Amino acid sequence: ILNDFLQNVAIENKLKDAVFNQNFTLNFQPQYHIKDRKLRGMEALIRWKDSDGKMISPAVFIPIAEKNGAIVPIGTWVVEESIRCFADWKKKYTGHFVLSLNISAIQYKKTDFVDIVMQIIRKYDVDPHEIELEITESVLIDNFTEMTEKLCVLREYGFRISLDDFGTGYTSLLILNELPLDAIKLDMSLVQKDHPGQAHNILDFCGKLVKLMRISSVAEGVETGEQLDRIKEIGCDYVQGYFYSKPLPIKEFEQYLESHI
Ligand code: C2E
Ligand code: CA
Ligand code: CA
Repeated sequence: ILNDFLQNVAIENKLKDAVFNQNFTLNFQPQYHIKDRKLRGMEALIRWKDSDGKMISPAVFIPIAEKNGAIVPIGTWVVEESIRCFADWKKKYTGHFVLSLNISAIQYKKTDFVDIVMQIIRKYDVDPHEIELEITESVLIDNFTEMTEKLCVLREYGFRISLDDFGTGYTSLLILNELPLDAIKLDMSLVQKDHPGQAHNILDFCGKLVKLMRISSVAEGVETGEQLDRIKEIGCDYVQGYFYSKPLPIKEFEQYLESHI
């Protein structure tokens, strides 16, 4: 525990420099339509190489950045940088794509969040329909009403709202009913359990639930052909996972686009 604590303090200190020096990069991971296997879009995933050249996982530094507020400038950078790339790809390739962004609860809570995102998409001439904002259920823990109102505003502007990591937390089914959602991302822990039994039934249930709610579903963490077959069976709409591609740095992702569109 002490080691974890010290490590977190070290990360917290380095994080301040990283924000100042803009030591972050983005990776993009493709998402596919399951039906016709066409590219649906991509999710932007942040990467941080610290001053010693060591990669620090977002799963480690994002929670720390959320605690000390650094997530706000970091998050704004992610929105702008990924939309800048997306706008560039739109010019190069024809087709309708969706860019998925991870937005932290802290960002949604900021009063100027909607304005900032609107400013960025206007600057790069991107339509809100092309942007999917991912939320995790931590967004909903306090201020459920305030948060749903904000999500409704974003949706009125045309943004898509997607619930990330579905199946891992405590999201009540009743809450699902009240949230303004366009999509649910089925967590990889649901998808990767391909042995028969309860996990099988739970995945089936999720498929039916999504259909009843008339929203779309994205399966995450699909690594094998069998897993792809399973999520096809339950009627999932989109797929993201190593089966197609790992998240790729910008240059490599562009090469990937060249050969896959
Ligand atoms: P997430 O949003 O659930 O992102 C999916 C994670 O699963 C990514 O990890 C991705 O690399 C990984 N993944 C994708 N396909 C597969 C697969 O087939 N198998 C396996 N084993 N893993 C797969 P990553 O990039 O390390 O990100 C971890 C988490 O950090 C993300 O989970 C998200 O919660 C957070 N994160 C990443 N970028 C951002 C960001 O820009 N802003 C915020 N607020 N959070 C971010
Ligand atoms: Ca996500
Ligand atoms: Ca997820």
